[in-house]
Amino acid sequence: MNRLTAASYVAELTDGFVGEGEPNQGIFALLLSTLHLLAAGETEMAMRAFEARLIGLAGFKPELNACSGCGEPLTETKIRFSANLGGLLCQACASAENKITVFNRGTLEVLKTLYRWKLTKLHQLKVPEILRQELSALLRAYIEYNLEKRLKTTEFLDRLYKSSPGRGTNI
Ligand SMILES: [Zn+2]
Repeated sequence: MNRLTAASYVAELTDGFVGEGEPNQGIFALLLSTLHLLAAGETEMAMRAFEARLIGLAGFKPELNACSGCGEPLTETKIRFSANLGGLLCQACASAENKITVFNRGTLEVLKTLYRWKLTKLHQLKVPEILRQELSALLRAYIEYNLEKRLKTTEFLDRLYKSSPGRGTNI
């Protein structure tokens, strides 16, 4: 992905998570720092960190330590993501779900690092190709789940306000 494509992607994703007229200083600062990293030629991990932190700053920070079903700590060597619940599940809880994606535990550890490390340190993070692919897929799953929820709500509110009496100029 070239820098311009990456820059438009982060701008568009921000737009999806932040509605018009909703001030969010944290997200603005994240966007600026990410654009600086992209300008400096760092793309992949900068984008993944951007995605992870944007979700968090928008109020949807994923639970990465405990099962979203039963709350037990996630200790298994495989990580299971439920598309229906939008979270990670232990093996027992995952067996009751039908849309499950399985990831390596290392991918989860990289994701935690993206939340912990300073953005400017991320170029020091060495991530094997398979984990990079999984990380991208896992973040995408979180984004789709939360964006779908968010945009549905927005649509709902838009419809609600449009249909409410007493609005507009023809009163
Ligand atoms: Zn569980």
